[in-house]
Amino acid sequence: MDGIIIDKVQLLKQLENECKRADLPLKKSATNLVFGKGNPNAAIMFVGEAAGRNEDEQGLPFVGAAGKNLDRLLDKVGLSLNDVYITNILKYRPPENREPLPEEIKAHTPWLCNQITEIKPEVICSLGNYSTKFFLAGGDVDKMQEQEGITKLHGKVRMIDFCGLKIKLIPLFHPAAIIYNQKLKVEWEKDMEIVKHELSQKTLF
Ligand code: URA
Repeated sequence: MDGIIIDKVQLLKQLENECKRADLPLKKSATNLVFGKGNPNAAIMFVGEAAGRNEDEQGLPFVGAAGKNLDRLLDKVGLSLNDVYITNILKYRPPENREPLPEEIKAHTPWLCNQITEIKPEVICSLGNYSTKFFLAGGDVDKMQEQEGITKLHGKVRMIDFCGLKIKLIPLFHPAAIIYNQKLKVEWEKDMEIVKHELSQKTLF
């Protein structure tokens, strides 16, 4: 392998293939692995909770109603899929979208950690309560309950240590929560201004 430079796009593809082969809980009941989409060279990573029915069918995160809303929200602040990387905490859909069990989260999140380690995002935007609590708990499932909720924390920047990296965490409302709520949409756009401010790569917007 001497002298061969493998770029992040290839690395993420390799990781996805390894993840596909791994014997993860929820794999048997799911249709497809939902690993991630977007640009592995992006400075911003969005992390949701888990795939729903549409994501499971297509093998891609955020392609259902919440995903369509996320596309609109990103478009409104001048971003496209090429500027971001999008994934979930869980890599397979829990049956009927039930709450994931602690053992499932523990088994899946090393893959999230691998993604973050390869992408090295400057900013992680946690989408919604669940993902926000996961990062604030430092990935410790047993400490998620103790964390504050998204209503208090959205738009607030925190430095977190995650998988050995120092990353800015900026919690955002989940796009599914915003679909019919104009007030939250305005908040989301304001929060994205904060994301923009926090990125050193200001030309991105
Ligand atoms: N909600 C999530 O958190 N993730 C998806 O991929 C879809 C809906």
